[in-house]
Amino acid sequence: MVTSEGIKKLAKSLGADLVGIASMDRFEGAPANQDPRYIQPDAKACIVLAFRVPRGYYRGIEEGTFFSVYTTMGYAGINEVFGPIILRELVCYLEDEGYESVPLPNIYLRSSAYFDKGENDPSVSVPVSPDKPFPDVMIDMRVAAYAAGLGEYGWSKVFLSPEFGPLQRFAALLTTAPLEPDPIFEGKICDRCMSCARACTGKAISMTEADHITIAGHVIEYAKVDLKACSIAYRGGNPDYNPFLDSKVKYEDYKDLYFGSPILEEAVHIPKYMRHGSALEGARGCMRECYAHLEKVGRLTKKFTTPFRKPGWKPWKIDRSQYPDIVVGNKKRSKDDSLL
Ligand code: SF4
Repeated sequence: MVTSEGIKKLAKSLGADLVGIASMDRFEGAPANQDPRYIQPDAKACIVLAFRVPRGYYRGIEEGTFFSVYTTMGYAGINEVFGPIILRELVCYLEDEGYESVPLPNIYLRSSAYFDKGENDPSVSVPVSPDKPFPDVMIDMRVAAYAAGLGEYGWSKVFLSPEFGPLQRFAALLTTAPLEPDPIFEGKICDRCMSCARACTGKAISMTEADHITIAGHVIEYAKVDLKACSIAYRGGNPDYNPFLDSKVKYEDYKDLYFGSPILEEAVHIPKYMRHGSALEGARGCMRECYAHLEKVGRLTKKFTTPFRKPGWKPWKIDRSQYPDIVVGNKKRSKDDSLL
């Protein structure tokens, strides 16, 4: 017999750091294209896995000397390799027990809703019939993590767990196994210190304006986040914090463009094999600054023998006037390169 306790033990033995279980009714009210009940109508539970982003993956970016391990192992590696391997093991186990199960890795075909183009953007897909939402339907991982009791939303809108603060990524699976859900997290992690908003290199996190969402009857508040500014900053769009940015391309050329803009992809002078390579900003505000704060005030259960930031630590900022003869990158391009 499959139990919640048993599936959690198995998931952790396979490499998940945290496991929570949500009942399907907790997705009531989700937009159709984020409602997992459209993916597997007879699912009885949603199992949510969290994989820590090890603190050491950020160390090189903290020092300003080694950027590639976070973008590869800390981002694409977890979402596209490590997480899916564990999802497959769990799906096969559950199906061996007779329960159809659907893996939901943090990779999917459609991102228009996330990037603010609207729920029914016909440039991305068409519904297969009028009674169904536009594919790909995909859960919002933060909503699923909250519904599975793994933690709370921070002011930054990044999900915080009591163990790792903001340093984790999620994957989920749906199953017909009738698993007991976990209670909604009732603790308090975010103390509204606003360090995330102050340190964001895109100034994407409002200090004063809030948005709200209701999950399983709980009203959740977080900052109004400028997703366009975030999408540029997270991939190193601020020249002060990106040593790989082609200095011939000016911020004005791409400040109105979105995540995935070819002109920004080209301007960030990094090898193409680095999937999510342009996440090299290393989430300065919403992840690193938040983590440093939560560790300092003692809110995290995962402890280290040394602090993430030593006393007197100062954030680095590039002074390009020190390198007048160095131009990063050598490709010819213009604003017309943009496809957006
Ligand atoms: S940095 Fe402070 S305000 Fe921002 S999410 Fe973390 S704890 Fe909350």
